[in-house]
Amino acid sequence: MDAQPQHDVVVIGAGFGGLYAVHRFGELGFDVLGLEQAADVGGVWYWNRYPGARCDCESYYYSYAFDEALQQDWTWSLRYSEQPEILRYLGHVADRFDLRRRYRFSSRVTAAHFDEAASVWRLRTADGFETTARALVSAMGCLSQVNWPDIPGLRDFGGRLLHTAQWPHEPVDFTGRRVGVIGTGASAVQAIPRIAEQAAHLTVFQRTANWVLPAWNRPTDPDFDAWVKANYGEIRARCLASGGAVPFDPPEHAALDVSEAAREAAYQALWAQGGMRFFSAFTDLFTDEAANATAQAFVRAHIERTVQDPETARLLTPDDHPIGVKRPPLDDDYYATFNRPNVTLADVRSAPILDVSGQVLRTASAEHELDDLVVATGFDAITGALLALDVRGRGGVRLADRWAEGPRTYLGLGVAGFPNLFTVTGPLSPSVLANMPTAVEQHVDWMADCLEHMRAHGVATLEATEAAEAAWSAESDAVVAHTLYPKARSWYFGANIPGKPRRFGVYVGGFAAYRERCRQVAERGYEGFRLGAGPNE
Ligand code: FAD
Ligand code: NAP
Repeated sequence: MDAQPQHDVVVIGAGFGGLYAVHRFGELGFDVLGLEQAADVGGVWYWNRYPGARCDCESYYYSYAFDEALQQDWTWSLRYSEQPEILRYLGHVADRFDLRRRYRFSSRVTAAHFDEAASVWRLRTADGFETTARALVSAMGCLSQVNWPDIPGLRDFGGRLLHTAQWPHEPVDFTGRRVGVIGTGASAVQAIPRIAEQAAHLTVFQRTANWVLPAWNRPTDPDFDAWVKANYGEIRARCLASGGAVPFDPPEHAALDVSEAAREAAYQALWAQGGMRFFSAFTDLFTDEAANATAQAFVRAHIERTVQDPETARLLTPDDHPIGVKRPPLDDDYYATFNRPNVTLADVRSAPILDVSGQVLRTASAEHELDDLVVATGFDAITGALLALDVRGRGGVRLADRWAEGPRTYLGLGVAGFPNLFTVTGPLSPSVLANMPTAVEQHVDWMADCLEHMRAHGVATLEATEAAEAAWSAESDAVVAHTLYPKARSWYFGANIPGKPRRFGVYVGGFAAYRERCRQVAERGYEGFRLGAGPNE
C-alpha cells in the first residue's frame, strides 16, 4: 500500500470555491489536483444558463477579494450581473491565475474513501480515473445537486424539457410556443419575465408563493464604480465585519419600537434602494413574528398595487411563511408579468400536478398542452452534492449513514471520523446566508493556514473530535431555534426533498462572529480537532 499519495490535495469543484482553493493551495506550493464534472470552470454559473439568471448580491461585492489587481481591473456592467458575465469573470480568473492546468474536467467524482492504513483519500471518477491525496477539499457547492421532482411521466415529456440548473449552452427560443414553468423560487422568478416576453403563452405552475423584492437592476454607474475601486479595502472589510458578509449598515432599531410612519419610511427607503438591504430595516425581522408581519404587510401592499387581477394577486401573496426565512428572489418585472394577457398562474397547491403524458401536464383541475416545460425546482441543497458520491471515513463508515438524521459538522469545516476532509461552505457554516464569495474565501484561507500548519508540524491527519462536532451542531441548532427560520418549509431544512432528514443546514449566528470563532480555533492549535502524526499513531 502506497504511503505517499499522488497529490497533497484534491479539490472537487471549479466554482468560486474550487477555483480559489486550487489557486491558494497551489500558491503555497502544495501539489493540487482539481476534479470537476463540468467541461469547464464556473460552477453554478456554468450550469444555470436560463434566461434572466443573475446574482442577487451586487456584483461589486459578489466577487473575489483576494487579489487587488483583479478587483481593480474587472468592471461589472450591471449592478446585478447576468450569468454570461459572471461565467466570463470566472473564466478570466482561471486564465489569469493559470488554474485550468491544475484541473481534470468532465470528471465526476463517484467515490472518496479514506484509507486508514495509509492515511490517504482514494478517489474514483465516473470515467474510471483513480487518484489519491493527503487532503480532500469538497468545493462541490451548496446548490449544485439538481432536484428533479418526482412527477410521473415528467422525464418523458413529449415537448422540449428544460431544467433551469441544467440549461443548454445554445440559445433557447420560446417565440410562438406554449411554455409551462414549474416552480416559483428564485430561478423561476428570474426566468418567468424573460420567457413571457417571447412565448405565445406561459403557464406558471405555483405551489407556494414567494416574497419577491425589487432588484432595480441597472448598468453600473461609472462614478460608483470609481468610488468602489477607490474604497475596495474598506468595502471588503465591512463585508468581513458583518452578519451576512455584505457591506450594508446594520439596523439600529426594533420594528415595533418605532412609529408606524417611521417604519413605513424605513421600508420605503430600503425598497427604493432594492435588494436584500430591505432586511437591514430593523433588528428583529428574523426573530419576532409581529415585527416580520410589518414587513410582510409592506410587500403585500406592493403586490396588490401591481397585480391587476385580485385573485392572481392573492395567489401570488405568500400566506405560509414569514418574509426572509426562505431566500426571497429579486426581480423587477415579476409581479407585473402576471398582468400580461399571455401569462396564466396555475395554483398547483389547491390542484396538484398529477402527471405528464406526451405534451400534456395534468393537474387535479385541468390539462395543459405545452411545447416547452421548464422545470425550476431547485436543488438537493447543502448536503446533496457531497452525499451523491460514496464518501467513506474511518472504519469504512459512510457519510450518508453518519448524516442519516441530518448533517453534523464541526464549524461546517470538518466531520468526526473523516480525517483531512475539508468542506468549503459546508453544512452548519454561514454558507448560503452569507455573500458566498466572501464565505468561500474565509473557508479556503482557513484551510490554507491549516494545511500549512500540518505541513510545518508534521501532522498527517486532522480530524474533528466527536465532542467538538456535537457541541457545534447543538449550538447551530440552538441559534436557529431562536429565529423565525423554522416557520418555513425551506431547502435550508431539506424540506424540499421528499424523505430528506430535516435539519437546518446553515449556521445563522452571523458571519463575523463565525469567522472569529474559526480564527480562535486555529490560534489555539486547532482546538476541537485531533491532530495525528501518521498512519499508525
Ligand atoms: P458551485 O458554484 O456550485 O460549484 C460546485 C462545482 O462542483 C460545480 O461546478 C459542480 O459541477 C461540481 N461538482 C459537484 N459534485 C461533483 C462531483 N461529484 N464531481 C465533480 N464535480 C462536482 N450566492 C450568493 O451569495 N449570491 C448570489 O447572488 C447567488 N446567486 C446564485 C444564483 C444561482 C442561479 C444559484 C443556483 C446560486 C446562487 N448563489 C448565490 C449561491 C451559489 O451557490 C454561490 O454563490 C457560489 O456560486 C457557490 O460556489 P461554489 O464553488 O461553492 O459552488
Ligand atoms: P427553489 O427555491 O427550491 O424553488 C423551487 C420551486 O419549485 C419552488 O417554488 C417549489 O415549490 C417548486 N416545486 C418543487 N417541486 C415541485 C413539485 N413537485 N410541484 C410543484 N412545484 C414544485 O429553487 P430555485 O428557484 O432554483 O432556487 C434555489 C436557490 O438558489 C435560491 O433560493 C437561491 O439561494 C439560489 N438562486 C439564486 C438566484 C439569484 O437570484 N441570484 C437565482 C436562482 C437561484 P414549493 O416551495 O412548494 O416546494
